[in-house]
Amino acid sequence: MVTINLKKIIRDVPDFPKKGIIFKDITPLLRDAKAFRETVDRISKKFKNKKIDVVVSIESRGFIFGSAIAYKLGASFVPVRKKGKLPFLTHRVSYELEYGIDTLEIHQDAIKEGENVLIVDDLLATGGTAKAVAQLVEKLKGKVAGIAFLIELGFLNGKKKIEEYPVYTIIKY
Ligand code: AMP
Repeated sequence: MVTINLKKIIRDVPDFPKKGIIFKDITPLLRDAKAFRETVDRISKKFKNKKIDVVVSIESRGFIFGSAIAYKLGASFVPVRKKGKLPFLTHRVSYELEYGIDTLEIHQDAIKEGENVLIVDDLLATGGTAKAVAQLVEKLKGKVAGIAFLIELGFLNGKKKIEEYPVYTIIKY
């Protein structure tokens, strides 16, 4: 496989959504068919022998990659959403972001006991979001088989927060 320089395609947007944050804009990567496919293929390949039953992703950019990876792995897809968006009974957890505090929810019947779960998001910053999602999965007695990201902001040490899980990232800053 010829690998594309994915890092070059990601756009830095300074001071978004607030001053001091350099936002990693993945829309140019999504706009590039080969780069988008390579991202999905590389994460899927990494987990293809791990018997993943369910891919869990976080709204909204996580959904873009997570659903494609679920399709590729022949797994099901479960959305984790911000408070108040899921229609059925939920479990919720509050967590800290690089820029604020938020609450995430999962449907109470989303995962069966013992199912192997791959968590997918676009970017690992402080690790708070991924940790919160792992807690939701474990509350439902799912097994977190791995956590995958397109981008890791290494200087924020997010991997430390989720060190008990296998973590895979494609691009590191
Ligand atoms: P964290 O919980 O700190 O690891 O933050 C991860 C979540 O926030 C991911 O869902 C990212 O999409 C988003 N995020 C945090 N920092 C950035 C950034 N610098 N650029 C783009 N997205 C970010």
